[in-house]
Amino acid sequence: MIKRLWFVFLICSVGACTSRQPALDAAVVPPPATPPVLLEKHPKNVILMIGDGMGISQITAGMYYNGNRLNLEEFPVVGLHKPYSSSNLITDSAAGATAFASGIKTYNGAIGVSPDTSAVKTILEEAEEHGLATGLVATSTIVHATPAAFIGHVSSRNKMEEIAESFVETEIDLFIGGGKKYFSNRKKDKRDLLKELATKGYYISDYTKEPLTEIVLDYSKNLAYLTDEDSPKTEKQGRDFLKPAAQVATNFLSNRSREKGFFLMIEGAQIDWGGHANNADYIISEMIDFDETIGAVLDFAKADKETLIVVTADHETGGFAINPGSTMEKIKSGFTTDYHTGTLIPVFAYGPGADLFSGIYENTEIYQRMKLAFGFRDQ
Ligand SMILES: [Zn+2]
Repeated sequence: MIKRLWFVFLICSVGACTSRQPALDAAVVPPPATPPVLLEKHPKNVILMIGDGMGISQITAGMYYNGNRLNLEEFPVVGLHKPYSSSNLITDSAAGATAFASGIKTYNGAIGVSPDTSAVKTILEEAEEHGLATGLVATSTIVHATPAAFIGHVSSRNKMEEIAESFVETEIDLFIGGGKKYFSNRKKDKRDLLKELATKGYYISDYTKEPLTEIVLDYSKNLAYLTDEDSPKTEKQGRDFLKPAAQVATNFLSNRSREKGFFLMIEGAQIDWGGHANNADYIISEMIDFDETIGAVLDFAKADKETLIVVTADHETGGFAINPGSTMEKIKSGFTTDYHTGTLIPVFAYGPGADLFSGIYENTEIYQRMKLAFGFRDQ
């Protein structure tokens, strides 16, 4: 053990340690691909659903445990993306979400900024500029890396109180997730961002005031609902807001902007946390919760007929494997790490524009192809 540690120290000290690798050669990252198909019909709404840490094995284990069936099986188009970041072959959620939100490869830890830390416009901000309604929903705090990269521009994912300030600076129509303390019980200053949002005309509520499902929706106001003081519980501990939040969000945003449509990002954050914990039961329960939410969003899209749904992950977590000796009901799990891995990640698409998402491409193409689907041009 001592020898091994010394070896790691030696490798790191000569600059080959993975966390200190220089940025990947820019030439390795191809420019945006030519659109694979011409769109016959543009979707009015785009819903991006991110299962954090959701690789093929996480999906497979959830499917078997759920009676060999997932709502994901209803998606007609499947593709694969390459998840690496500009600083590391193994991305983190911040760089991964920034690739989806803004179409650039950046360094691990970056929130909505390029490798030189300058702000890059996000698809949510572009949607706002085009007059669409916008929303973010997550089973983490709402200032956690994945939702943060769609609204914030900060050099580090750890600056959570700064990320919370982005919600006051943007005209986001709806957000639902944990992390109330970053808004109204701040260490950095005495600002009460929820009061500031209320002054801006938001309807503000949280878990101490009323259940999410009992809110009387007022489509004339923006809506913010904080589900927890800090990180939400696990599904197994009783967290049950993701599917209702997706239903509230799709209903609310479609009524908020009947003419122009909306952009919504929904994150199942804790599939990743199950992977970090090397806990198959945690992964599976979070995977099934996320898939049930996918089912609710599919119901909306089927009725609406103008909604593109894209489901993907930022990266795989745990090197999770379904080992020999497993049955559908009882997975004999294996893990190669308690961190993320670098494997290709599946992409599922449904609705107008879905064909854009077939093939194998860079993670940055998720942004390019959502933008193409919306018909946004560079301004
Ligand atoms: Zn993670």
